[in-house]
Amino acid sequence: MTPTPVEYVSTRGGAPRLAFADVVLAGLASDGGLYVPAAWPRLSATEWQALSRLSYAELMARVLAAFAAPDVGEAELAALAADAYRDFDHPEVAPLAALGDDHFLLELFHGPTLAFKDYALQVLGRLFDRVLARRGERVTIVGATSGDTGSAAIAACRDREAVEIFILHPRGRVSEVQRRQMTTVDAGNVHNIAVEGTFDDCQDLIKAMFNDPPFRQRWRLSAVNSINWARIAAQVAYYISAALRLGSAGDPVAFAVPTGNFGNVLAGWVAKRMGAPVGRLIIGSNRNDILTRFFATGRMEIEGVVPTLSPSMDIQISSNFERYLFELLGRDGGMVKATMQRFRDAGQFSLPQPLWRQALADFTAYRCDDEQTQATIRDVFTRTGRLVDPHTAVGIAAARSARPDVGGPLVTVATADAAKFPDAVAAATGVRPPLPPRLADLFDRPEHLVALPADLATIQSHISQVLSQKGITG
Ligand SMILES: *Cc1c(COP(=O)(O)O)cnc(C)c1O
Repeated sequence: MTPTPVEYVSTRGGAPRLAFADVVLAGLASDGGLYVPAAWPRLSATEWQALSRLSYAELMARVLAAFAAPDVGEAELAALAADAYRDFDHPEVAPLAALGDDHFLLELFHGPTLAFKDYALQVLGRLFDRVLARRGERVTIVGATSGDTGSAAIAACRDREAVEIFILHPRGRVSEVQRRQMTTVDAGNVHNIAVEGTFDDCQDLIKAMFNDPPFRQRWRLSAVNSINWARIAAQVAYYISAALRLGSAGDPVAFAVPTGNFGNVLAGWVAKRMGAPVGRLIIGSNRNDILTRFFATGRMEIEGVVPTLSPSMDIQISSNFERYLFELLGRDGGMVKATMQRFRDAGQFSLPQPLWRQALADFTAYRCDDEQTQATIRDVFTRTGRLVDPHTAVGIAAARSARPDVGGPLVTVATADAAKFPDAVAAATGVRPPLPPRLADLFDRPEHLVALPADLATIQSHISQVLSQKGITG
């Protein structure tokens, strides 16, 4: 199959059209929008059939090739995906496990950091390297983390030739397992900074670095956060893989997805848009329920963030929703721009009734508070003997709420291994999930980090010094 070349447009209509490789490197569009394909690739019936015979890495390469043409070809992507998934600890990479009455778990925690972000980031890190090497360029990735994202980004970028990565975390405010997953990585291009401050301070520092053009350009700053299109594109593969295993055109598969940013569930929608047998998409929110409130009312409204048992979904704004909004608004970038402007100024926007209804044809959303999350972890353990992490539990609770309205196969996306959140799991079940063998010596490994004050000039000069000492010239 030779995929049709894909061009990318910004959701706000004011940035140049770009090809895939440029979109990967750009992240955010220059008009503040997000890049999406100018047209959605669709596969023929024979192409779908062929997909179901492939290994996970081969399937990923073929799906990604449909978004990456002509910049990166399927053969190159296949080599890259084989390498990315070689060390995952399950031969199927993204296996399905039965949970009861036509309800399955899609296990996305077999990668190096035990959470679903590895599935896209392990590919994205290698893609960055490939694209940069071809151009003779390099980048400095900077990011802030409250725990999970940082370790997945570090695992993806370690030892990449053309990439240096600096991750800021709030000192003393991430769990020891999370910190050690970042700081025990022994690679010359990985730099951990423990900031004397909060996660918000870390995020503000990152924003300030991007808002400093000389610094940004000197070190070619880049990010690997979930607004990067390649992450969404890479996530489409596991929806397709599961849908082809369990469903058919007449019997589509519903997915329940614990999500905060709308990134993971959006990939499910893309799979459906490409013609995969995907049915209803069920969103699970924790108490930070901006998405659930939106689907209940047609109104997107910002509220404060509260800490929950599922911290990777403790967000105020679902950034990736803008990509779906672009579709709902008939791909009218001007309207998206005006809507997002209103959202920024007033903290809210409403959709006209018909568009809200259209959104409800694709998605259903449920909120699950901490008590329900714990009750779900306990109930799954009692019924099946299986330990699930709090994020996955939010997804399972949503799936169960939706079940009366959703027939046929139902898949809950399991986004993390229970061992990543041992305290919450032990509190709910009395059983403490052990660290898997690959992390068994985590507490014996030496840590690599520097502690710095939450001061922009200090952190910038530290970064410049580290890079200069490595002989990187800005
Ligand atoms: C990041 C993360 C999520 C939320 O992902 P979205 O991008 O918001 O869809 C859910 N669970 C875990 C374990 C995560 O790390």
